[in-house]
Amino acid sequence: MNPVRNRLEPAYTVNPPFMNELRVENLHVAIGDQQIVRGLSLAVPRGEVHAIMGPNGSGKSTLAKVMAGHPDYQVTKGKITMDGEDLLALEPDDRARKGLFLAFQYPSEVPGVTIANFLRAALAARLPDGEELEATEYYAKLYEKMELLGMDRSFTARAVNEGFSGGEKKRTEILQLAMLEPKYAVLDETDSGLDIDALKTVAHGVNSLRGSKIGILLITHYQRILNYIVPDHVHVMVQGRIVRSGGKDLALELEERGYDWARAEADEPVLAR
Ligand code: ADP
Ligand code: MG
Repeated sequence: MNPVRNRLEPAYTVNPPFMNELRVENLHVAIGDQQIVRGLSLAVPRGEVHAIMGPNGSGKSTLAKVMAGHPDYQVTKGKITMDGEDLLALEPDDRARKGLFLAFQYPSEVPGVTIANFLRAALAARLPDGEELEATEYYAKLYEKMELLGMDRSFTARAVNEGFSGGEKKRTEILQLAMLEPKYAVLDETDSGLDIDALKTVAHGVNSLRGSKIGILLITHYQRILNYIVPDHVHVMVQGRIVRSGGKDLALELEERGYDWARAEADEPVLAR
């Protein structure tokens, strides 16, 4: 605890607002009458990769779902901004159009729609009225990104997630991420259920996309993926809030010590960045 902190300043304060960041401030989320997220604050600037780690049930996926605009989750307090704009005031599709990308723990199947057509529709939806996506341009970009990610071209003729293995689903998400070039990407448990080869492929994809134009929030239960995608910051989430923030070494500490100590700190929210 910083002794010189202004006493009037609430405990959830993150760094002063910065224009190019995805920012969560004192967020409270309820499902029905159950409070799931209880005063969560963090800021992910473009150009950085942040990881949220935490035990199951701590509210990590709830945070991602609120960002996506899932109707079951009520924000009872606090706010989320993207480059200074109130994210929660936007319709879900506007959030995407303005540069937010979310990948979920359990991606949906889209039977009968090929990856190539799905991605094309997603890109076209973001264009201003009257503008069209040139087919040759689109395929050139698609194949360029697939090459970058080491994916076989035949993959794009398959229906989205239909009969896909866990690894194939995750790679499809990374391809979506590469094609949409969002300002911020929130990846929820992109590593879950992956064998080591699939994990490395996903990590390679994320690493080849990281850079100054994108802020990435990687949500994970396990430390393992952070050996391959080395985060700039790590936040530990327990019972709906960040209980500790630090550098990449915090992930290693969690791997060694587990989450029990963090649970003990759950009633003491700390400064997070
Ligand atoms: P995490 O992703 O960290 O494992 P979740 O955000 O999935 O945690 O869940 C946090 C808590 O909220 C859990 O207790 C879970 O049971 C509850 N929860 C999540 N979604 C729902 C829902 N749709 N209805 C009821 N409870 C939910
Ligand atoms: Mg989850």
